[in-house]
Amino acid sequence: MFESLIAGSLPKPAWLAETQKLWPQWHSAGPELQQAKMDATLLWVKLQEDAGLDIIGDGEQARQHFVHGFLEQVEGIDFEHKVTMGIRDGRYEAQVPQVVAPLKLKGRVHAAEAQLVRAHTKKKMKFTLPGPMTIVDTVADRFYGSKVEMAMAFADLLNQEALALQADGVDIIQFDEPAFNVYLKDAATWGVQALERAARGLTCTTAVHICYGYGIKANLDWKETLGQEWRQYEAIFPALAKSSIQQVSLECYHSHVPPQLMALLDGKDVMVGVIDVASDVVETPEQVADTIGQALQYVSKARLFPCTNCGMAPMNRDVALAKLQALAAGAALARQRYL
Ligand code: ZN
Repeated sequence: MFESLIAGSLPKPAWLAETQKLWPQWHSAGPELQQAKMDATLLWVKLQEDAGLDIIGDGEQARQHFVHGFLEQVEGIDFEHKVTMGIRDGRYEAQVPQVVAPLKLKGRVHAAEAQLVRAHTKKKMKFTLPGPMTIVDTVADRFYGSKVEMAMAFADLLNQEALALQADGVDIIQFDEPAFNVYLKDAATWGVQALERAARGLTCTTAVHICYGYGIKANLDWKETLGQEWRQYEAIFPALAKSSIQQVSLECYHSHVPPQLMALLDGKDVMVGVIDVASDVVETPEQVADTIGQALQYVSKARLFPCTNCGMAPMNRDVALAKLQALAAGAALARQRYL
């Protein structure tokens, strides 16, 4: 009951890359960089276990950014000539690569880190991939001319990698779809279809993470415009509830999401965000247990997984670690409280 885990990313150590940045520069290259990425992955496996988390991830230490890490292994994308584009409906500008030819995987994307984590933990393992709709929103299209067509093409590549990750021993494959909270109508139609296509044939647990973004200024400013109640999930959850995806990761603590919207996910596992990644104030175990208690009004005990609101990539490393410890301690407290 209340198996705890993170949404996905963790801060990169200062010896691996620039710290507290969303698109950090690596501090080495070639085989030395590859070794450093693996060392950082192993470090976070150990720290997640020591914190007491029940499901372990790679912390996304081997990718510069949660979307571009995948794209670097895709043929048909021009990384040499990046262009500036407004992403998430123009919420912020990013330097994005361009799709210039039919998409194809160059080979495995995440084999090294997935196999490393599997070799070093006996606990359940979750692995994250960007979702098709969010990828489409984070590249410039100079080839397909149709968002839907390009999303389906990316879904096929994601499916190929997801099946290989499953063979590596991954227990949960999660697709990250922050774009679902921005393009509500499209998300409920072709967004969910593309997601199901990416998860086709998987026999491991499948999940989707939908959030209001990292704790960076552009996102905090955006949240200010969303009013007292954030009801975006209301537009998407009914479509997800009908889909084949088994788990949904959502924001809860310190958000303005009405908690009763979780009831729309009847029949799904819910990874409830009980840790705020936009604040350096570390939650107490009591606060975490309180949030779990609140979510229990709408999600059954067996289906509730305490989680972080979003990735922790741009955070201070010590703060992130303290938050992992609070997450696990809060889940343990909730197990006693809500027997
Ligand atoms: Zn997120």
